[in-house]
Amino acid sequence: MKLQVQPKLIIHGGAGSSLHGKGGLEAVRQSLYTVVEEIYALLLSGATASVAVVQGCQMLEDDPRFNAGTGSVLQSDGQIRMSASLMDGTSRRFSGVINVSRVKNPIELVQFLQNSPDRVLSDYGAAELARELQVPSYNGLTELRLQEWMQERHDNFKSTMAGVVAEPELVESSNAGRGTIGVVALDAYGRLATGTSTGGKGFERIGRVSDSAMPAGNYATSQAAVSCTGIGEDIIDECLAPRIVVRVTDGMSLKDAMQRSFAEADKNQRDFGAIALDANGAIAWGKTSEILLAAYHNGEKLGDTLELPIETDIGCIE
Ligand code: ASP
Repeated sequence: MKLQVQPKLIIHGGAGSSLHGKGGLEAVRQSLYTVVEEIYALLLSGATASVAVVQGCQMLEDDPRFNAGTGSVLQSDGQIRMSASLMDGTSRRFSGVINVSRVKNPIELVQFLQNSPDRVLSDYGAAELARELQVPSYNGLTELRLQEWMQERHDNFKSTMAGVVAEPELVESSNAGRGTIGVVALDAYGRLATGTSTGGKGFERIGRVSDSAMPAGNYATSQAAVSCTGIGEDIIDECLAPRIVVRVTDGMSLKDAMQRSFAEADKNQRDFGAIALDANGAIAWGKTSEILLAAYHNGEKLGDTLELPIETDIGCIE
């Protein structure tokens, strides 16, 4: 097949504070690279950006290391409630589910909702949809996330968020971090899409709504697409994804839009990260948190952001 443009791909597995052991880091890198390789090959074979994003999100939801789907963190009452969204930049259509339980892949429901007149469903409605679509009931609880929750309960829920990835050493240290996954793709026809899926920030109140199922955390036009991770309330307050996307749509370069948006976020003491692509094929990431677990493919090679200095705020490959 003849490519009209070189596909680009960037994915993330959350943002947060340092990843302690190197073992954890190498395992995370491997997990991310496996997804990047498979999804990039899919884009090369002519898959649309939306299809690639959904499939990438599914693979990351299925990896128990990340806080989405299997391996989601528990909320304050010990239950898993997941949120996810998809935005297709070409159709400019956003769909999402908020606080859905007992499904393996929330992104599948979100994909279905792209073509529905009602495109964002919360807990009860999402459960009804899963029932209608005959999605089998699934329990995404893992032993590590249960241990993490028990430890937090013991400490009276003093952490603001759950661990960035489910690694035994991190559970023991009960280190505050983030989770969540995201995929942003530019396909061979020049179309952009972005998807984000999360178990939430962990230990939150019942009914708390994550940015991951809002445009604030996941937004695309035909010019740019962004997926965010980190403290959802900070992402909502900055309206981060549309802030970056609209700047690019108005003519700013992706690099400048990221630089400006992250400088403002830094000033406001926000704690988050984001990954982004533009229609010209620029790949970018930014963070105010210590680390961002992102990996990308630019058509020539794989790369990642796992071992960058803490003070590095943004990166852009044009
Ligand atoms: N943004 C997600 C939330 O606040 C959490 C995360 O990205 O780890 O629900």
